[in-house]
Amino acid sequence: MSSMLHLKLPGRSDAIRSFKAQGGKIAGVLPIHYPRALLRSFNLLPVEIWGPPRIDPVFGSAHLQPYICSIVRNALSFVQTNPFQTVDVLLVPHACDSLQGLGSILLDFVPPEQPVLPLYLPRGQGMNKASFLQKELETLYQKLKNITGYSPSQDEMMQKILYEEEADQKLASLHRQRRNLPLSDIEFYCLIRAREFLPAEKFSEIAQQILDQVRDEILSGIPIVISGILPEPMALLNEITQMGGMIAADDLACSGRRLYPPGRSQEPFLRMAESLLGAAPSWSWGSPIQDRLEHLMGLIQASEAKGVVFYNIKFCEPELFDLPSLREGLQAAAIPSTVVEVDINDPLSNQMLTRIEAFLEMIA
Ligand code: SF4
Repeated sequence: MSSMLHLKLPGRSDAIRSFKAQGGKIAGVLPIHYPRALLRSFNLLPVEIWGPPRIDPVFGSAHLQPYICSIVRNALSFVQTNPFQTVDVLLVPHACDSLQGLGSILLDFVPPEQPVLPLYLPRGQGMNKASFLQKELETLYQKLKNITGYSPSQDEMMQKILYEEEADQKLASLHRQRRNLPLSDIEFYCLIRAREFLPAEKFSEIAQQILDQVRDEILSGIPIVISGILPEPMALLNEITQMGGMIAADDLACSGRRLYPPGRSQEPFLRMAESLLGAAPSWSWGSPIQDRLEHLMGLIQASEAKGVVFYNIKFCEPELFDLPSLREGLQAAAIPSTVVEVDINDPLSNQMLTRIEAFLEMIA
């Protein structure tokens, strides 16, 4: 029997309600990287907004060029048209040009009721990224202080940092032990994506319950690595299982590229910066493609995956830009790969499923 049935994994609305009932407030956070511990220090629960899928994107479409991805289009619609009173602050990290554009639209053209806070991430080569990010986090602290009227001490921040680091360690263990967990792909992704909205302490508690069930038996299925932004629609995961595949390792922006190691410094801002910068290589940090390729090869080797599915969001330029070099590198190492594209508002297409199925048959 599936272990998830015993877990009582809270949903997003439950997590928000329960945090607010204890006097906390909610920060709506756009993708990808941001300092969870800093928000928690101001008693703000970060709740991530990856789209969301399956909403009416009309408002966003009216303010964006047609070649902007569905994550940004949906996010703009969601922020402006959803009953959004549950969110007290919006954080928009500048992970890509489209998200940077979204930040400008929300700040200058169609501001929502909530304060909008941008966060710049270091992407340049040769710069001191930790120092840049440390200063950005200090600036964000000042803005949050002005909004909330609260000034958390260094000790309070360190306590929150340690909670987040523990949750990040558990998340990394779940990924490492993926093939020995008693979870299907859909269950695994429901669990790890709960990190997008659960308080770190709650996530750690649930993750530990699953880690306690690690077994010697290895999950069956044709092992693959999935790379891209996020596994939406999530029905994809059931389809892959039914086709005989299993996701043995993950290079998705929402999950595998956010396995942050603990920071080292005793200075909270620098420690948070060190931790964020320890994530897997990606264009969002300006990483060289060779680093991405080596990271992918490492995932393939560790998970014994037989191929890579690049599961891309339509019009996601940063992913598209890296794709030819990554596939060329994989091909040189005789590792098969395939590419499919989705719009998070569309149902799974038969054409795409057929392509994945044919790929699984080829590598089996
Ligand atoms: S899907 Fe790509 S282009 Fe769109 S927000 Fe994410 S990273 Fe940016």
